[in-house]
Amino acid sequence: MSDRYAVIGNPVAHSKSPAIHAEFARATGQDIDYGRIEAPLDGFAEAIARFRAAGGKGCNVTLPFKHEAFRIAGQLSERARLARAVNTLRFADSFGDNTDGIGLVRDLVDNMGVALAGKSLLVLGAGGAAQGVVGALLAAGCARLVIANRTLPKAHALAARFPGVAARAYDALAGERFDVVVNATSAGLAGESPSLPARILDRESVAYDMVYGRDTPFLAQARAVGARAVDGLGMLVEQAAESFFVWRGVRPATRPVLAKLRGS
Ligand code: NAP
Repeated sequence: MSDRYAVIGNPVAHSKSPAIHAEFARATGQDIDYGRIEAPLDGFAEAIARFRAAGGKGCNVTLPFKHEAFRIAGQLSERARLARAVNTLRFADSFGDNTDGIGLVRDLVDNMGVALAGKSLLVLGAGGAAQGVVGALLAAGCARLVIANRTLPKAHALAARFPGVAARAYDALAGERFDVVVNATSAGLAGESPSLPARILDRESVAYDMVYGRDTPFLAQARAVGARAVDGLGMLVEQAAESFFVWRGVRPATRPVLAKLRGS
């Protein structure tokens, strides 16, 4: 019987993870079966226990359960500890990891050729996704990292966990300019954008929206000033590849899967 994995979230019907992991398994010859589990909002731990009892080997965790997964993991990777959120569980040793940050950095650096070392970075948002990527962006050697969020105290709380990271309200960014702006808000899902002052981005900047599968006002704004605008599909594939490695000890190639998802 194939080893069983799943993505657990609510909602989860839209998830592309089963298709991505099926491609990884085919390409690497790993015998896995990867499904979707929609857990009730108050039933995450029970859903995990049921899947484990039914022979599940591990799972990805998505909205809104990454913090709960962090709490139930028996041992944590350093990057999960920094993020205080878990998106990958391996049941055999009760291991919790967070692959979102390395997924973003690999997409930016390896897939898009964007150097982060020495650059000035702005992260928009202070929710689970932002928490997952700040540590990895700092480890990539950026010179400066600012976190901006609509609810300012959340930006301050996140920045305070990382030495040298600053927090700002959106309107306090006026007059600043960044090499890379990562939109880690969910605003694009509602057709909205954080209200950013003009001139934060220019023709030399990269604008990265973690939202994928749709054009967002943030990316449109970036294109309007000539910045390079990229969606989060590459991050999704890269974080999945790192989870696959955590479970199977095999690193799948990501570019063919990304090209297939983009229909190119
Ligand atoms: P979350 O914990 O619910 O946080 C949402 C964040 O978005 C908060 O900072 C919130 O600000 C902000 N926000 C929401 N609507 C906004 C608006 N209209 N204007 C300005 N800010 C707004 O969600 P999350 O887990 O961080 O996920 C954020 C997004 O990242 C989601 O769309 C998710 O799909 C995406 N994501 C993508 C990947 C990938 O692999 N590509 C991985 C992880 C997440 P407040 O604090 O002020 O409410």
